Amino acid sequence: MLIFHTVDQLSGYLLHLKHKGQTIGFAPTMGALHRGHLSLLEAAKKHCDKTLSSIFVNPTQFNNPSDFEKYPITIAADIKMLELAGCDILFLPSVAEMYPSGTEQRTDYDLGFLETVLEGSSRPGHFQGVCMVMDRLLSIVLPNHLFMGLKDYQQCMVVKRLLELKGWKQTIQFNACPTLREADGLAMSSRNLRLTEEQRKTAPAIYECLQFIKQNLQPGPLQPIKQQASELLAQKGFKIDYVEIADTSSLELIHTWNGRQSLTALIAAFLGEIRLIDNTILTP
Ligand code: AMP
Repeated sequence: MLIFHTVDQLSGYLLHLKHKGQTIGFAPTMGALHRGHLSLLEAAKKHCDKTLSSIFVNPTQFNNPSDFEKYPITIAADIKMLELAGCDILFLPSVAEMYPSGTEQRTDYDLGFLETVLEGSSRPGHFQGVCMVMDRLLSIVLPNHLFMGLKDYQQCMVVKRLLELKGWKQTIQFNACPTLREADGLAMSSRNLRLTEEQRKTAPAIYECLQFIKQNLQPGPLQPIKQQASELLAQKGFKIDYVEIADTSSLELIHTWNGRQSLTALIAAFLGEIRLIDNTILTP
């Protein structure tokens, strides 16, 4: 695996590959890698000649400074995992390399409604930061295919919107990959590394709640089922940020189900200071 730390060196190498007619599949990450991340690379390998991953803990997307400071960093293990997974190229930039004009200079991306609900409203500025880093990474890499995880469902929608805003929709194919879970249902996440042993045992309750909603979903008002799911989580010691049911394609929050509309349930909840998110599509 080739490792690049600077934009110039990476761009030069990618240009060389593109001249040879090779296609690039890109899976950006913030490191502390797990099998969920590797599944993106596996998908990339199926579609593209060369796979590229990046590891960059993006300061502009953290609305909570302590979450940024405590974000797990496991670079040596990550490199080993990527090598074993057969990743061809790793981009490992510094903050200065990614943000040569500093992190304070903000661009305003028009994300509309997406920025007003769920992760958008709970984490002010988060998606602007995601767009800043993705704009920079995609401008550097200009991949043929981009691979991102449905674990971050709303992020997938935001990045698709960014591709539209930047006129990249035709040139960069967006691939949304399924969420990989631990045996007990907990969605794999870098933040799981920060859970205590006790919290780790409790954490799968989020998945259990999603399953509870899926199994008990009925046409009509959705407040009762959301309420029951929230109570289940609260009983386990979670501090709930949201338990919501939304239209799968627009993320508009749905209060009464007509029995036909495609729905997705989304949960964000804290165990101690660790914020976990997960989601599942409820309808076939
Ligand atoms: P992160 O390093 O958390 O920013 O995630 C990098 C990419 O991996 C994003 O596209 C995530 O949606 C994706 N990802 C994170 N966790 C999982 C998972 N459990 N299964 C599949 N993809 C994931």
